[in-house]
Amino acid sequence: MASDAPITQDVMTIPRKMPETDRVNLVGLTRAQMRDALLAAGTAEKQVKMRVNQVWQWIYQWGVRDFAEMTNLAKAYRAMLEENFVIEIPEVVSKLVSEDGTRKYLVRIAGGHEVEVVYIPEEDRGTLCVSSQVGCTLTCSFCHTGTQKLVRNLTAAEIVGQIMMARDDLEEWPVPGAPKDETRLLSNIVLMGMGEPLYNFDNVRDAMKIAMDPEGISLSRRRITLSTSGVVPEIARTAQEIGCLLAISFHATTDETRDVLVPINKRWNIEELLGALSAYPKASNSERITFEYVMLDGVNDSDEDAHRLIEHIKRHNIPAKINLIPFNEWPGSPYKRSSNNRIRAFANIIYQAGYASPIRKTRGDDIMAACGQLKSATERARKSRRQIEAEAGMRG
Ligand code: SAH
Ligand code: SF4
Repeated sequence: MASDAPITQDVMTIPRKMPETDRVNLVGLTRAQMRDALLAAGTAEKQVKMRVNQVWQWIYQWGVRDFAEMTNLAKAYRAMLEENFVIEIPEVVSKLVSEDGTRKYLVRIAGGHEVEVVYIPEEDRGTLCVSSQVGCTLTCSFCHTGTQKLVRNLTAAEIVGQIMMARDDLEEWPVPGAPKDETRLLSNIVLMGMGEPLYNFDNVRDAMKIAMDPEGISLSRRRITLSTSGVVPEIARTAQEIGCLLAISFHATTDETRDVLVPINKRWNIEELLGALSAYPKASNSERITFEYVMLDGVNDSDEDAHRLIEHIKRHNIPAKINLIPFNEWPGSPYKRSSNNRIRAFANIIYQAGYASPIRKTRGDDIMAACGQLKSATERARKSRRQIEAEAGMRG
């Protein structure tokens, strides 16, 4: 619910960055890549392992952006780093803070593109919703990102940089010598911002590996959730190469409806998707797969749908929880949000069948910050309602 409480809007003017250089950004490199980069810049072979560790810790454990602060490195070595490298993350263009504490950032990346990043504080944790692409090649009919044409994949630096940016803003880098703070403001990552993370697999994997590295940001793989619309061939790789938790944008219980809502279903249908999920090697009762289900009035929200959903999950024996998402309407969107009563009745059927069925709280409504609706007002509605309705009708 939007309220009359004041919203702080602090639009920062950031001085223009230094002119483009050909210095290499150290952010986003894997340890192996950083090793190669330091070697190429003249680091001695027998020292390189130690140097990678030192530089890595400065960047990812202490959040240092200035080589001069890397005080355990000799001055000459720091000068060499300065000459060859930069430590660069996306720049914050604006920040909105909701009355409920949700923070929405607009960050600018190379080429002048902008993506949104949302921080959602909760009592016992804080979740950062991270983007993986500018726009999305897929065209889910209820999703606003799907109306934008893809501009490009984000680099690993731009993905892990979103996390570093949020830690900057939350002032959460540790202070040397201070006792370790166990309750982190930024404790969880969800890849639920703009884009389809499994269509940018390598960069997403490298960025998440960096975020998980114990000598750095050090987030447990169990605190990272990757959400996909169902890129079936990449699902097994996600378990093997990233090892994080999985969420699936399920949203419909028949192929007929899912073909319209999540058109990738025409490529890999519900049965193929469920097959890949039941084979997800990490799936267990402690690491259940999240089924995301957006509640669209009269489209996918009947009692029959709820029963069919359970039947699918049971038939494939998938350890699951079902996250019901009240649809976030956007100007021109061809659907309406299901009523609260309908959502509760749907949740109840699922719960009675023995599955957790939390209803996602809408957060940051007053600043349009809901995950999955990451879009700034100025760029909104490239397509008219008519166009989208026509296309949705065609697909149906
Ligand atoms: N491309 C990935 C991740 C980004 S979308 C995916 O599709 O899973 C993150 C979640 O938000 C998805 O479950 C998506 O279906 C959902 N979502 C998108 N638009 C939404 C809207 N307008 N209202 C509610 N949920 C939405
Ligand atoms: Fe892309 Fe996900 Fe939106 Fe579908 S729901 S258009 S996959 S961002």
